[in-house]
Amino acid sequence: MPSSFAEARVDLGAISENVAALARRARGAAVMGVVKADGYGHGMLPATRAMLAGGATWLGTAFIEEALELRGAGITCPVVAWILPPHAPLAAAVAADIDLGVSAPPLIDDIAAAARETGRPARVHLKADTGLNRGGLTTEQWPETVAAAARAEAEGLIRVTGLFSHFACADEPGHPSIAAQTSAFHEALEIAAKAGLAPEVRHLANSAATLTLPESHFDLVRPGIASYGLSPIPGLAGTGLRPAMTLRTSVALVKRVPGGSGVSYGHRYTTDAPTNLALIPLGYGDGIPRAATNTGPVFVAGKRRTVSGTVCMDQFMVDIGDDASTAKAAGDGPEAVLFGPGDYGEPTAQDWADVLGTIPYEIVTRISARVPRVYD
Ligand code: PLP
Repeated sequence: MPSSFAEARVDLGAISENVAALARRARGAAVMGVVKADGYGHGMLPATRAMLAGGATWLGTAFIEEALELRGAGITCPVVAWILPPHAPLAAAVAADIDLGVSAPPLIDDIAAAARETGRPARVHLKADTGLNRGGLTTEQWPETVAAAARAEAEGLIRVTGLFSHFACADEPGHPSIAAQTSAFHEALEIAAKAGLAPEVRHLANSAATLTLPESHFDLVRPGIASYGLSPIPGLAGTGLRPAMTLRTSVALVKRVPGGSGVSYGHRYTTDAPTNLALIPLGYGDGIPRAATNTGPVFVAGKRRTVSGTVCMDQFMVDIGDDASTAKAAGDGPEAVLFGPGDYGEPTAQDWADVLGTIPYEIVTRISARVPRVYD
């Protein structure tokens, strides 16, 4: 039973084993553990340590602030932060030896200035936009930025440690953009090589590509979601990944209501016969989407049920029926599992994603700070 109102149990051994399995798939390429957004909701520092134990030798974050937190916790391996908004703490990043992703040409000058201020060279990864059309240097910007980077490198202000790009549709095997992006990345690498850049690592593969596209592995793979045991491609067989997070709580109360009772705000669920309702003390304040009203799957007292009525801020109800054993068990405050690895029939984060029309990334990442993380 959870010792608080609910808990997100995180199986750190599963994270280590998932990373080790991904490292085997990567056959010689290094593995970057992607730990942004609080380790996809699992807790950045515990997830980081589990990934390093599993063989990751690089780490990836979105923001410098996340990377600085890793340094503050004594993590010394290379860490790349790849989103640098205006006012990003570049000098602090250079001082902390954080690798910086460059997605726009002016950043070379900004980072060189930070290096001058700090008195040490900045480690830089140039990001090519090969077709995602999100962050990254466009085909037009690439040659001039590569040249600027080569000049700053010659001046000793930066060291280009990486060249990278990111897929748009790696989770849709066979999508034509995959081959187009891979070949655009090869072209970007050639231009960089001609300009004299010799990075430590060239990297392109996210989880889906790590699992399905060996030709995209280059020197380093960057699996995020798969490290947490969730498949980037629903139904992909043979991944051997184990979901690390289980979200569970205890039934807070059970009440008997007549048939025809409207349940929760707006009476969006109505009982069709006398029944028992179980109150589950988790709501949208904990990251349970309100859109799970009448659809979210829940395992209550060993049976698969569905959210009954509106998900509130701190609670929702589940019609557990007239099954005497369930009602009695529920009266004792049994476990309610919203999602887990699925070993004993409980729903998975993928099941929640399916009913909500989203991806498991969002399900685990949105579990709020109010829910204590408990580590196994
Ligand atoms: N690399 C970059 C640049 C990313 O932005 C992300 C996540 O969005 C990843 C790797 C990891 O992606 P995934 O979780 O799909 O493996």
